[in-house]
Amino acid sequence: MRAFISKEMIDKAIVNSKFKTSKMYFQLMNRDKVPSASVIWCSLSLPKHRFILWQASLKHLLSRDNLLKCHMQLTSSLCPICEVQQECHEHLFFQCQFAYQVRKGVANWLGSLIWPACFQDWIRWMEGKPKSLQQKIVAAGLAASVYLVWWNRNQCVFNSFSMSVCKAVSLVQDSIKARVTSLSKAKMKSTDIVFLRSLNLL
Ligand SMILES: [Zn+2]
Repeated sequence: MRAFISKEMIDKAIVNSKFKTSKMYFQLMNRDKVPSASVIWCSLSLPKHRFILWQASLKHLLSRDNLLKCHMQLTSSLCPICEVQQECHEHLFFQCQFAYQVRKGVANWLGSLIWPACFQDWIRWMEGKPKSLQQKIVAAGLAASVYLVWWNRNQCVFNSFSMSVCKAVSLVQDSIKARVTSLSKAKMKSTDIVFLRSLNLL
């Protein structure tokens, strides 16, 4: 290992007099953290929501366009939710009416009217670190919405069933409420408490 690790790398891995294994790991892997990592892996999101958001951000979910690239035989390449356009990540999470309505419902609830409307803007929008509780709730809302759109898509494929937009928005709200309930209110700022009450989370 000594052949690969320089003193400069060790110095870079030390933050506030503490050695950070993750910093050394990324140096050894010769890669930096992707800009959207903090939003994708936000601690307030459920682990399964983080995973699907990560896969969606890479366009790695097994949508029908990806299955066709793997030469899979499909009876249809259309979006299984609306059956209007070809299924791909852009369509599924942005152009499809179901995703549009879920996104709109969750964005209205969060009071965030800047939710991007296309895949590239969405990736750029995820760059940056959610620091405040409000920013973390928006990140968790995004992850839950993406998860539910993908879950609903799978229900359409395997069970010929689609949930309503209201139900999807309600499930996003329930998942965030469950996470917020586990937080210590003593550590919250008064502005956070006002925000949470405005969302009916407290
Ligand atoms: Zn669709």
